[in-house]
Amino acid sequence: STETAYELIGKNEVLTVYRPREKYAHKGTYGHVLILGASYGKIGAVCLSSNAALHAGCGLVTAYLPAVGYSILQTSLPEIMVLTDKDEKIITDITFEIDPTIIGVGMGMGTDDKTIMAFGSFLKSNEKPLVLDADAINILSKHKDLLKHLPKDTILTPHPKELERLIGKWKNDFDKLNKVKKFSDQHQCVVVIKGANTIVVQNGKGYVNTTGNPGMATAGSGDVLTGIISGLRAQGYSALNAAVFGVYLHGKAGDIAVEKTGYQSMVATDLISNLGNAYLDLF
Ligand code: AMP
Ligand code: MG
Repeated sequence: STETAYELIGKNEVLTVYRPREKYAHKGTYGHVLILGASYGKIGAVCLSSNAALHAGCGLVTAYLPAVGYSILQTSLPEIMVLTDKDEKIITDITFEIDPTIIGVGMGMGTDDKTIMAFGSFLKSNEKPLVLDADAINILSKHKDLLKHLPKDTILTPHPKELERLIGKWKNDFDKLNKVKKFSDQHQCVVVIKGANTIVVQNGKGYVNTTGNPGMATAGSGDVLTGIISGLRAQGYSALNAAVFGVYLHGKAGDIAVEKTGYQSMVATDLISNLGNAYLDLF
């Protein structure tokens, strides 16, 4: 159909999905996120995602990254557990003995042939819910045969270039939205079209975010979003609700941060520092 069914994502909408903290909760109540990615020189991507997942409220976070990242992560983020690949610089083997609730993959991961092989065999045996970003999306774009192994309700969070690699060039915004709807129907997934007005797409519907600002056009901003959405998914939010609430909180954290930093000086870490304020702003 040519109908543009979309809704705005504002405070009222996210309040209808918000799940309050339970008094008798323990950390197991809120899930265990595994963040998998990074490569030499891009360890920070996994640091940002892991820390954002924790600040979004999940119970536990483990980061899985190349061996070179071990002390970087353990030194900078004491709350987070670490698993390392046997390779120093890249991901070459995605196998682990922990039992995460959900897995976020791709940030700073690179697309080395060995990483592609590892990611491919991981997808074939994996049954956990996934959030895929950055190089995980780039690998899927080059190896479309892997798309059939995505579990239902996988969340993909492409920026414009990653989206173009995934679905091809579009003629205009209307065409883009239709192409994304088709992709999301075909692969039964949620697509987050990142940008100035981020749109979450599932089941032929688009949800347009109303928070955020151009200060967020900065290194690592997307890695923080992947962490937030993963952290929400682990707490029991559905894929659609995690994506919708995640883009709202991410943008709101940016809107609160910019009051203190200004547009130019905002960095991705400021988004994580203001996630708590974004939650508090709901009430
Ligand atoms: P990435 O390119 O993967 O780092 O992702 C960038 C993140 O920042 C996404 O969540 C975008 O929605 C957000 N972002 C980038 N530019 C803007 C903008 N001009 N206004 C609002 N949000 C933005
Ligand atoms: Mg990114």
